[in-house]
Amino acid sequence: MDENLEISFDIPDNVLDEIQHNIEEIIQSFPIPDDNKLDVIRKINFMYSQTKYLSVTDGLTGLYNRRHFESNFEREFLRSERYNGKLSLAMLDIDLFKKINDTYGHGCGDYVLKEIAYLALQTFRKTDMVFRYGGEEFAVILTETDINNAIIPCERLRKNIEMYPFIYGGERFNVTISAGVCEKGDGITTAFELFDRADKALYKAKAGGRNQVKTAV
Ligand code: GH3
Ligand code: MG
Ligand code: MG
Repeated sequence: MDENLEISFDIPDNVLDEIQHNIEEIIQSFPIPDDNKLDVIRKINFMYSQTKYLSVTDGLTGLYNRRHFESNFEREFLRSERYNGKLSLAMLDIDLFKKINDTYGHGCGDYVLKEIAYLALQTFRKTDMVFRYGGEEFAVILTETDINNAIIPCERLRKNIEMYPFIYGGERFNVTISAGVCEKGDGITTAFELFDRADKALYKAKAGGRNQVKTAV
Protein backbone atom coordinates (compact mmCIF):
# COMPACT_ATOMS: atom_id res chain seq x y z
CA MET A 1 0.00 0.00 0.00
CA ASP A 2 1.29 3.45 -0.87
CA GLU A 3 0.56 5.58 2.18
CA ASN A 4 1.25 8.81 0.26
CA LEU A 5 -1.73 8.24 -1.97
CA GLU A 6 -4.11 7.75 0.92
CA ILE A 7 -6.44 10.70 1.43
CA SER A 8 -8.25 10.69 4.73
CA PHE A 9 -8.92 12.86 7.71
CA ASP A 10 -7.71 10.77 10.56
CA ILE A 11 -8.88 12.59 13.66
CA PRO A 12 -8.60 10.45 16.79
CA ASP A 13 -11.70 10.03 18.98
CA ASN A 14 -10.18 11.88 21.93
CA VAL A 15 -9.46 14.90 19.71
CA LEU A 16 -13.06 14.87 18.49
CA ASP A 17 -14.25 14.79 22.11
CA GLU A 18 -12.02 17.75 22.85
CA ILE A 19 -13.40 19.67 19.87
CA GLN A 20 -16.95 19.07 21.10
CA HIS A 21 -15.97 20.17 24.60
CA ASN A 22 -14.40 23.36 23.21
CA ILE A 23 -17.51 24.10 21.17
CA GLU A 24 -19.67 23.82 24.27
CA GLU A 25 -17.33 26.16 26.15
CA ILE A 26 -17.37 28.71 23.34
CA ILE A 27 -21.15 28.66 23.21
CA GLN A 28 -21.36 29.18 26.96
CA SER A 29 -18.68 31.83 27.38
CA PHE A 30 -19.46 34.13 24.45
CA PRO A 31 -22.38 36.51 24.57
CA ILE A 32 -24.36 35.40 21.55
CA PRO A 33 -27.44 37.60 21.04
CA ASP A 34 -30.61 35.68 21.85
CA ASP A 35 -32.18 36.31 18.46
CA ASN A 36 -29.53 34.36 16.55
CA LYS A 37 -28.31 32.00 19.27
CA LEU A 38 -30.11 29.03 17.73
CA ASP A 39 -28.61 29.83 14.34
CA VAL A 40 -25.06 29.95 15.74
CA ILE A 41 -25.52 26.68 17.63
CA ARG A 42 -26.91 25.03 14.49
CA LYS A 43 -23.96 26.19 12.41
CA ILE A 44 -21.41 25.02 14.96
CA ASN A 45 -23.13 21.65 15.25
CA PHE A 46 -23.13 21.32 11.48
CA MET A 47 -19.41 22.04 11.33
CA TYR A 48 -18.83 19.52 14.08
CA SER A 49 -20.80 16.77 12.35
CA GLN A 50 -18.91 17.51 9.10
CA THR A 51 -15.62 17.13 10.98
CA LYS A 52 -16.82 13.90 12.53
CA TYR A 53 -17.95 12.57 9.13
CA LEU A 54 -14.58 13.40 7.55
CA SER A 55 -12.77 11.67 10.39
CA VAL A 56 -14.35 8.29 9.62
CA THR A 57 -14.42 8.39 5.83
CA ASP A 58 -11.89 8.04 3.07
CA GLY A 59 -11.66 11.19 0.97
CA LEU A 60 -11.31 9.46 -2.39
CA THR A 61 -14.01 6.79 -2.30
CA GLY A 62 -16.32 8.08 0.42
CA LEU A 63 -16.15 4.69 2.10
CA TYR A 64 -15.43 4.33 5.81
CA ASN A 65 -11.69 4.47 6.51
CA ARG A 66 -9.35 2.06 8.22
CA ARG A 67 -9.53 3.67 11.64
CA HIS A 68 -13.30 3.32 11.58
CA PHE A 69 -12.83 -0.32 10.57
CA GLU A 70 -10.62 -1.02 13.59
CA SER A 71 -13.15 0.31 16.09
CA ASN A 72 -16.21 -1.23 14.40
CA PHE A 73 -14.65 -4.61 13.81
CA GLU A 74 -13.61 -5.03 17.42
CA ARG A 75 -17.07 -3.97 18.59
CA GLU A 76 -18.90 -6.30 16.18
CA PHE A 77 -16.65 -9.16 17.22
CA LEU A 78 -17.44 -8.57 20.90
CA ARG A 79 -21.14 -8.18 20.11
CA SER A 80 -21.26 -11.51 18.29
CA GLU A 81 -19.44 -13.15 21.23
CA ARG A 82 -21.89 -11.74 23.74
CA TYR A 83 -25.08 -12.55 21.81
CA ASN A 84 -23.84 -15.67 20.02
CA GLY A 85 -24.38 -14.03 16.67
CA LYS A 86 -22.78 -14.92 13.38
CA LEU A 87 -20.08 -12.73 11.95
CA SER A 88 -18.04 -12.90 8.76
CA LEU A 89 -15.24 -10.76 7.42
CA ALA A 90 -14.24 -10.36 3.79
CA MET A 91 -10.96 -8.83 2.63
CA LEU A 92 -10.91 -7.71 -1.00
CA ASP A 93 -7.94 -6.59 -3.08
CA ILE A 94 -7.83 -5.27 -6.64
CA ASP A 95 -5.77 -7.53 -8.88
CA LEU A 96 -2.61 -6.13 -10.46
CA PHE A 97 -3.65 -2.61 -9.60
CA LYS A 98 -0.12 -1.30 -9.96
CA LYS A 99 -0.29 -2.21 -13.64
CA ILE A 100 -3.45 -0.11 -14.07
CA ASN A 101 -1.66 2.90 -12.56
CA ASP A 102 1.44 2.25 -14.65
CA THR A 103 -0.49 1.78 -17.89
CA TYR A 104 -3.18 4.44 -17.66
CA GLY A 105 -1.90 6.78 -14.91
CA HIS A 106 -2.86 7.44 -11.29
CA GLY A 107 -5.98 9.37 -12.28
CA CYS A 108 -7.23 6.17 -13.82
CA GLY A 109 -6.30 4.20 -10.70
CA ASP A 110 -8.33 6.65 -8.64
CA TYR A 111 -11.26 6.29 -11.04
CA VAL A 112 -11.12 2.49 -10.65
CA LEU A 113 -11.07 2.79 -6.85
CA LYS A 114 -14.16 5.00 -6.91
CA GLU A 115 -16.07 2.72 -9.28
CA ILE A 116 -15.24 -0.37 -7.22
CA ALA A 117 -16.28 1.38 -4.02
CA TYR A 118 -19.61 2.20 -5.68
CA LEU A 119 -20.10 -1.37 -6.95
CA ALA A 120 -19.29 -2.74 -3.48
CA LEU A 121 -21.83 -0.46 -1.82
CA GLN A 122 -24.43 -1.63 -4.35
CA THR A 123 -23.67 -5.29 -3.74
CA PHE A 124 -23.56 -5.71 0.03
CA ARG A 125 -26.49 -5.39 2.39
CA LYS A 126 -27.23 -2.14 4.16
CA THR A 127 -26.38 -3.91 7.42
CA ASP A 128 -22.91 -4.81 6.16
CA MET A 129 -20.15 -2.23 6.40
CA VAL A 130 -17.69 -1.58 3.58
CA PHE A 131 -14.33 0.03 4.36
CA ARG A 132 -11.33 1.16 2.35
CA TYR A 133 -8.77 -0.68 4.41
CA GLY A 134 -5.69 0.45 2.49
CA GLY A 135 -4.58 1.61 -0.95
CA GLU A 136 -6.51 -0.89 -3.09
CA GLU A 137 -7.78 -3.11 -0.31
CA PHE A 138 -11.28 -3.20 1.10
CA ALA A 139 -12.74 -4.87 4.16
CA VAL A 140 -16.38 -5.86 4.58
CA ILE A 141 -17.90 -6.70 7.95
CA LEU A 142 -20.92 -8.95 7.39
CA THR A 143 -22.98 -9.01 10.54
CA GLU A 144 -25.34 -11.92 11.29
CA THR A 145 -23.88 -13.72 8.29
CA ASP A 146 -22.35 -17.18 8.06
CA ILE A 147 -19.63 -18.12 5.62
CA ASN A 148 -21.98 -19.45 2.90
CA ASN A 149 -24.00 -16.26 2.91
CA ALA A 150 -20.83 -14.17 2.96
CA ILE A 151 -19.43 -15.90 -0.13
CA ILE A 152 -22.56 -15.11 -2.17
CA PRO A 153 -22.22 -11.28 -2.28
CA CYS A 154 -18.43 -11.55 -2.62
CA GLU A 155 -18.84 -13.77 -5.67
CA ARG A 156 -21.52 -11.44 -7.05
CA LEU A 157 -19.21 -8.44 -6.64
CA ARG A 158 -16.29 -10.33 -8.17
CA LYS A 159 -18.41 -11.18 -11.24
CA ASN A 160 -19.87 -7.66 -11.49
CA ILE A 161 -16.40 -6.15 -11.49
CA GLU A 162 -15.12 -8.68 -14.01
CA MET A 163 -17.96 -7.72 -16.38
CA TYR A 164 -17.92 -3.99 -15.67
CA PRO A 165 -16.90 -1.79 -18.61
CA PHE A 166 -14.24 0.48 -17.08
CA ILE A 167 -13.64 3.44 -19.39
CA TYR A 168 -11.03 6.12 -18.74
CA GLY A 169 -9.58 8.62 -21.20
CA GLY A 170 -11.39 6.89 -24.03
CA GLU A 171 -9.76 3.54 -23.16
CA ARG A 172 -11.85 0.57 -22.18
CA PHE A 173 -10.34 -2.07 -19.93
CA ASN A 174 -11.22 -4.78 -17.43
CA VAL A 175 -10.43 -5.10 -13.73
CA THR A 176 -10.69 -8.07 -11.39
CA ILE A 177 -10.55 -8.51 -7.65
CA SER A 178 -9.57 -11.33 -5.29
CA ALA A 179 -11.26 -11.95 -1.95
CA GLY A 180 -10.69 -13.89 1.24
CA VAL A 181 -13.63 -14.69 3.50
CA CYS A 182 -13.77 -16.07 7.01
CA GLU A 183 -16.50 -16.67 9.56
CA LYS A 184 -16.02 -16.30 13.27
CA GLY A 185 -16.09 -19.85 14.57
CA ASP A 186 -14.14 -22.59 16.24
CA GLY A 187 -10.68 -21.64 17.28
CA ILE A 188 -11.13 -17.93 16.67
CA THR A 189 -11.05 -16.08 19.94
CA THR A 190 -9.99 -12.58 18.93
CA ALA A 191 -10.92 -10.07 16.25
CA PHE A 192 -7.32 -10.16 15.09
CA GLU A 193 -7.50 -13.93 14.47
CA LEU A 194 -10.57 -13.48 12.31
CA PHE A 195 -8.85 -10.70 10.39
CA ASP A 196 -5.70 -12.77 9.97
CA ARG A 197 -7.60 -15.75 8.58
CA ALA A 198 -9.55 -13.64 6.10
CA ASP A 199 -6.27 -12.05 5.03
CA LYS A 200 -4.64 -15.48 4.59
CA ALA A 201 -7.63 -16.60 2.50
CA LEU A 202 -7.10 -13.52 0.34
CA TYR A 203 -3.50 -14.53 -0.25
CA LYS A 204 -4.71 -17.99 -1.17
CA ALA A 205 -6.95 -16.39 -3.81
CA LYS A 206 -3.96 -14.43 -5.15
CA ALA A 207 -1.74 -17.50 -5.17
CA GLY A 208 -4.51 -19.50 -6.86
CA GLY A 209 -4.43 -17.18 -9.87
CA ARG A 210 -6.47 -14.09 -8.74
CA ASN A 211 -10.04 -13.16 -9.73
CA GLN A 212 -11.48 -15.60 -7.18
CA VAL A 213 -13.03 -15.81 -3.71
CA LYS A 214 -11.41 -18.14 -1.18
CA THR A 215 -12.36 -19.15 2.34
CA ALA A 216 -10.07 -19.77 5.27
CA VAL A 217 -9.28 -23.39 6.09
P1 GH3 B 1 -1.86 -7.96 -6.54
O1 GH3 B 1 -2.75 -8.54 -7.58
O2 GH3 B 1 -0.86 -8.95 -6.06
O3 GH3 B 1 -2.63 -7.32 -5.43
O4 GH3 B 1 -1.00 -6.81 -7.28
P2 GH3 B 1 -1.17 -5.22 -7.14
O5 GH3 B 1 -0.45 -4.60 -8.28
O6 GH3 B 1 -2.60 -4.87 -7.00
O7 GH3 B 1 -0.48 -4.96 -5.74
P3 GH3 B 1 0.66 -3.97 -5.29
O8 GH3 B 1 0.60 -4.00 -3.80
O9 GH3 B 1 1.96 -4.34 -5.95
O10 GH3 B 1 0.24 -2.54 -5.83
C1 GH3 B 1 -0.77 -1.79 -5.25
C2 GH3 B 1 -0.78 -0.46 -5.97
O11 GH3 B 1 -1.86 0.36 -5.48
C3 GH3 B 1 0.48 0.34 -5.78
C4 GH3 B 1 0.00 1.76 -5.42
O12 GH3 B 1 0.64 2.72 -6.17
C5 GH3 B 1 -1.49 1.71 -5.74
N1 GH3 B 1 -2.32 2.60 -4.94
C6 GH3 B 1 -2.51 2.58 -3.61
N2 GH3 B 1 -3.34 3.56 -3.23
C7 GH3 B 1 -3.72 4.24 -4.36
C8 GH3 B 1 -4.57 5.37 -4.62
O13 GH3 B 1 -5.17 5.98 -3.73
N3 GH3 B 1 -4.71 5.77 -5.92
C9 GH3 B 1 -4.03 5.13 -6.93
N4 GH3 B 1 -4.21 5.57 -8.17
N5 GH3 B 1 -3.23 4.07 -6.72
C10 GH3 B 1 -3.07 3.63 -5.45
MG1 MG C 1 -3.77 -5.59 -5.40
MG1 MG D 1 -2.88 -4.93 -1.89
